[in-house]
Amino acid sequence: MGESPVSCTIDLTADGKQAGTLRLPRSSNTSGWSSLHVPIVSVATGEGPTALVIGGVHGDEPEGQVAALKLARELQPEQVTGRVIVIPCASPEASRAFTRLWPSGANLNRSFPGSPTGSADEQLAHFLSIELFPRADVVVDIHSGGRSALHLPWSEMQWIEDAAQRRQMVEGMLAWNTDWCCVYIDIAGTGLLVGEAARQGKIVVSTELGGGGHVTAAIHRLAANGLLNVLRRFDVVEGEAVTRASLGLPEQVLLMATELDNYLHAPESGLFEALVDLGQRVDVDEPVGRIHYLERPDRAPEVIRSKTAGTVCVVRAIATTDQGDNVVVVAREAHRSELG
Ligand SMILES: [Zn+2]
Repeated sequence: MGESPVSCTIDLTADGKQAGTLRLPRSSNTSGWSSLHVPIVSVATGEGPTALVIGGVHGDEPEGQVAALKLARELQPEQVTGRVIVIPCASPEASRAFTRLWPSGANLNRSFPGSPTGSADEQLAHFLSIELFPRADVVVDIHSGGRSALHLPWSEMQWIEDAAQRRQMVEGMLAWNTDWCCVYIDIAGTGLLVGEAARQGKIVVSTELGGGGHVTAAIHRLAANGLLNVLRRFDVVEGEAVTRASLGLPEQVLLMATELDNYLHAPESGLFEALVDLGQRVDVDEPVGRIHYLERPDRAPEVIRSKTAGTVCVVRAIATTDQGDNVVVVAREAHRSELG
């Protein structure tokens, strides 16, 4: 795939704890010869499995960034049986701006597998794809709904055809110990980080831990505890993984959002009114939202109806809505045996 223009200031084969940066070439109006720094931490002892933990692919999702920073700061080599590589925030400029996208307009999560000669986001995606994913047994990519969407807090996985890989990913999804788990399809094109990591055969664990631009203390705890438990489950970090049963919690609710009809979109631009709440069960044709027209007080709002029966797992968090924006996701409750 070509040599990367991205450099890494730490030795990803060395034992011990190291903190450094990935450096991407950058040229700005105020500095011709500059570089974008993306912090990276490696904590390693011995020959065990390697986990790559990534937060902040989207800048307006602080849940994973905080959990990954905490892990990078607190984890010590003696606790690690292999290697943990942490990139607490893959999109630092977007995080500073509290935006989903990079200031360039790029969505890093649409840039994979990337290109060494492409834009900065493509160069970073390429480096991850050729240098970091191949080293990893487990790839953890922590997301939430960001500013634009409220999600039930869940761990998730994309449907994978390879049964052995899928079973491992189910184990990782369950190990987060969220109340909800979701199996989803990519409805917005190609280029996902998790898609490339899965294509390389990795155990990919991801989340959507809430969102809406606000993070509760409970979500921060869920992010940190779930992340550590996943690393324990795959024997990367010492200590026994806990199960929901051992915590006195009921089994997870498994949601399947694998049909296009699960995803409901605004038919016109306007002001979105939610008619349902997260976790609410709805039937086919049940109204889930309305689009209002500020310039047409005489016009009745357009009603958006669910196309399937199931559980509301995503609700748009921003009222101002463009035609085609996703406003609600209704997922089907499924049984664990469906995942093989
Ligand atoms: Zn995200």
